[in-house]
Amino acid sequence: AKNSGRNNWVFYKPDMGEYLIQRREMEKEFREALSEGQFQLVYQPRYDIKTSRIAAVEALVRWQHPRLGLLMPDQFIPLAEETGLIIDMSDRVLEKACLDGLRLAPDLKISVNISAVEFNTGGLAKRVKAILQKTGLEPSRLELEITENVTLSNPDTTLETMTQLKEIGVRFLIDDFGTGYSALSYLKRFPFDGIKLDKSFVFAMEESDNAKIIVENIIGLGKAYSLAITAEGVETAEQLKRLKEYQCDEAQGYFIGRPVALDKVDFNVEFGV
Ligand code: C2E
Ligand code: CA
Ligand code: CA
Ligand code: CA
Repeated sequence: AKNSGRNNWVFYKPDMGEYLIQRREMEKEFREALSEGQFQLVYQPRYDIKTSRIAAVEALVRWQHPRLGLLMPDQFIPLAEETGLIIDMSDRVLEKACLDGLRLAPDLKISVNISAVEFNTGGLAKRVKAILQKTGLEPSRLELEITENVTLSNPDTTLETMTQLKEIGVRFLIDDFGTGYSALSYLKRFPFDGIKLDKSFVFAMEESDNAKIIVENIIGLGKAYSLAITAEGVETAEQLKRLKEYQCDEAQGYFIGRPVALDKVDFNVEFGV
């Protein structure tokens, strides 16, 4: 093992150097992207299964890179997190999402993804409050999506930040629920308003009865804890139908609508399943 370790080092060394140069270049370009406004938001509708109406939209960031074209979050969020530039990006994302929210019907909510790094760096409550004040969006229309690992790494700070924002009406959703290791009983210590069930569970429903039982149980458990349940990755009418049967609150996914520019979102969809 020792040998292979050394070989790996020798083998990877030139790549590492190249990686560092590329990374430094990307970091420089990321700063330019911030100052030149190259980040854009697309929106994906969230469908209220009971009322058959679009209840909210989720903002998803894209980077219109001058040389590389349209970049997806997976291609730049890790770098943004490592360099701390995620804070500046997120400020712009939040401000844009709040301003876009003002153009929508007042009963629609807007959800924004917040990285775990932002919770750990602190100052989130202050930043969000300042942006809400600046834009004038009603705080109860803003939902922040965070993954359960946020609560694990720094529970005290997380609770404090959430409490400060809950006081003014901001809502919180647990993103990618089911992919982490925390039980709902643990997460109940934090003032969450809803759960977003990870798409892997919705996909698995097609394959196995076991997965169907798990989904039905998570929905039931969420209800017992008074949490609204959004199922992610709904790609077919069959999935929507089943989720309706299980009394899931909301559906999101390509079947409902793909992430698109705000003026391309269809708010008049209705699914008779
Ligand atoms: P997420 O929050 O879980 O967002 C859902 C992802 O699933 C999105 O990918 C969306 O396009 C995709 N998706 C939606 N419906 C379906 C479906 O029916 N089938 C399949 N296969 N996929 C579907 P996207 O836009 O590439 O975003 C990836 C991740 O990047 C997000 O996952 C989120 O964690 C992160 N992200 C996006 N925008 C932001 C942001 O503004 N800030 C931060 N910190 N993270 C962001
Ligand atoms: Ca999300
Ligand atoms: Ca998710
Ligand atoms: Ca995710």
